[in-house]
Amino acid sequence: MMPRAFPTSGWIEVICGCMFSGKTEELLRRCNRARYAKLQVALFKPSVDVRYAVDDVVSHSDNRLPCIPVAHAPDILKHCGDARVVGIDEAQFFGPSLVDVANRLADDGRQVIIAGLDQDFRGVPFEPIPDLLAVAEYVTKTLAVCMVCGAPANRSQRLVHRESRVLIGASDTYEARCRAHWDPESFDSQQEELPLRTE
Ligand code: ADP
Ligand code: MG
Repeated sequence: MMPRAFPTSGWIEVICGCMFSGKTEELLRRCNRARYAKLQVALFKPSVDVRYAVDDVVSHSDNRLPCIPVAHAPDILKHCGDARVVGIDEAQFFGPSLVDVANRLADDGRQVIIAGLDQDFRGVPFEPIPDLLAVAEYVTKTLAVCMVCGAPANRSQRLVHRESRVLIGASDTYEARCRAHWDPESFDSQQEELPLRTE
């Protein structure tokens, strides 16, 4: 067995849910608590996420912490240094290689906190979150508020008609909806012409 960077055992925490459900707020809250404990924290996000900032993780409520934007999951291993706590936002954009990266970080004795979408706009489980849920020690499912009826919401309603699975956006592009008011085939026709980035 490889020697661990830290003497105590590490673990993986996953925070997942739909858009606007508070995943990033919860990730930032846990990273801040670690900083109060004087633990070194390294926070990462995929470099494609430039919605609110290039090198901050930012919540829809404008909470923020500086982060390292990386293109691929293995880059996290190169840049995490001696951080005891590793936070990763928007995990769904890193793809399946994030599972191995998270396991290696936790095997190394680190606390790994991962936030990401559990379903895409069609309601299909969004890799790598399902596999991360299987290997994580702790799982938190977050719920938003349905923008139609106010019920607990676990679906992301895409407002604009774009077929690609990845479409980076915020409240101009998505709304949180409950099961009853979520319809993946329904779009807001007024938004059809918006110039939006698709990956
Ligand atoms: P996520 O990372 O899950 O997309 P964030 O943590 O960035 O969400 O943002 C959560 C914040 O989004 C809430 O505290 C609230 O201010 C805002 N928000 C906007 N729309 C909603 C909604 N429909 N339900 C709950 N919160 C919402
Ligand atoms: Mg978020």
